Amino acid sequence: MSTFSAPKGTYDLIPPGSADFLAVREAISAPLRRAGYGYVETPGFEQVELFARGVGASTDIVTKEMYTLTTKGGDELALRPEGTASVLRAALQANLHRGALPVKLWYSGSYYRYERPQAGRYRHFSQVGAEALGAEDPALDAELVILAADAYRSLGLRDVRLLLNSLGDAECRPVYRAALQEFLRGLDLDEETRARVEINPLRVLDDKREAVQRQLAGAPLMRDHLCEACKGYHEQVRDLLTAADVAFEDDPRLVRGLDYYTRTTFEFVHDGLGAQSAVGGGGRYDGLSEMIGGPALPSVGWALGVDRTVLALRAEGVTPELPAHTEVFAVPAGEEARRTLFGLLTVLRRSGVAADFAYGGKGMKNGMKSANRSGARLALVLGERDLAEGVVQVKDLASGEQEAVPLASAVERVRAKLS
Ligand code: AMP
Repeated sequence: MSTFSAPKGTYDLIPPGSADFLAVREAISAPLRRAGYGYVETPGFEQVELFARGVGASTDIVTKEMYTLTTKGGDELALRPEGTASVLRAALQANLHRGALPVKLWYSGSYYRYERPQAGRYRHFSQVGAEALGAEDPALDAELVILAADAYRSLGLRDVRLLLNSLGDAECRPVYRAALQEFLRGLDLDEETRARVEINPLRVLDDKREAVQRQLAGAPLMRDHLCEACKGYHEQVRDLLTAADVAFEDDPRLVRGLDYYTRTTFEFVHDGLGAQSAVGGGGRYDGLSEMIGGPALPSVGWALGVDRTVLALRAEGVTPELPAHTEVFAVPAGEEARRTLFGLLTVLRRSGVAADFAYGGKGMKNGMKSANRSGARLALVLGERDLAEGVVQVKDLASGEQEAVPLASAVERVRAKLS
């Protein structure tokens, strides 16, 4: 061990477990790419002010959890705690919103929050996200939810539940907000929560503490205050999900808590994860663009947590299909065989076969041990006698069957045996 270890609340991805992370990122992004989402990548840090406005100055993320720094040049920056504000900033900066709408984007990367670390909650974590900017259409909300559900399904996860709610819009939300405030002011709450009632009352509904939850039993719900337009919109989203065979549960208490969130709100939860059960979430945020100085740009998006999705896979005992791992392992005996076999390895790889080699001149016995340990299906063994005869031994590592194949047709034969 070295003197150093990964900082508190972080961990390294190490083989073989790290392959699960690649598989999850691939499974989440593949449906997006097929649905016309273009890849976007933004810096790991932004101006603090972007998040203060784009996430919400009263949120825990901004008040307590951001990694902020002042550069030598005097800029106030923060490591990104989430993706939406940055992606919207980038799209506006590139004037994408002046072209065809909606602008559909996906991204994948690291996010940073100074949270109290526990199982499933880290200070550095990984998300894959998607945003569809500039269209108000229930089919777009449904598309995003379906793509996320399909991603979980393609990974083989069975115990993911989808919670769905509507948060209303600029017409009906303020009326509801006032009614909720009225109710909350009558409760027995601590000082911090009372302050929250005045700044962001919806977030109080999301308070996980038992003593608070108990008092919320009779709280007014947005569902009963939705205007006709919001009701109709939400019904369409629900119908489209049902038609697409995506099961959901109506959760009238589900909030995103930020003032710009509107209408469709959803969260994917997994019951095998304990307290940190949310594997992903998102919603419509029709007001966000204006909050960060852009034009009106009704939009919807989500972010799915890669770390928690991997934990969910492990909780269900599901092994995702791994990106190509070693199929063929080459073991030479002798210097000349080594050169020849290394050449064959290169040709095999270029033809698309995942292949590895017994490096370090370990000798035949140790080489075969490495071959077995690699998980490869075939070993290619080349000794001096084989070389003289112009053949290579192709050994099936499961059955032990071995076949001498002319070197000239080895690539073709190996590929045929693997297919
Ligand atoms: P949020 O941006 O808070 O809506 O988070 C979206 C998803 O990112 C969550 O559902 C989690 O799966 C994941 N996530 C958020 N915060 C953390 C964290 N501190 N550690 C691990 N995963 C996280």
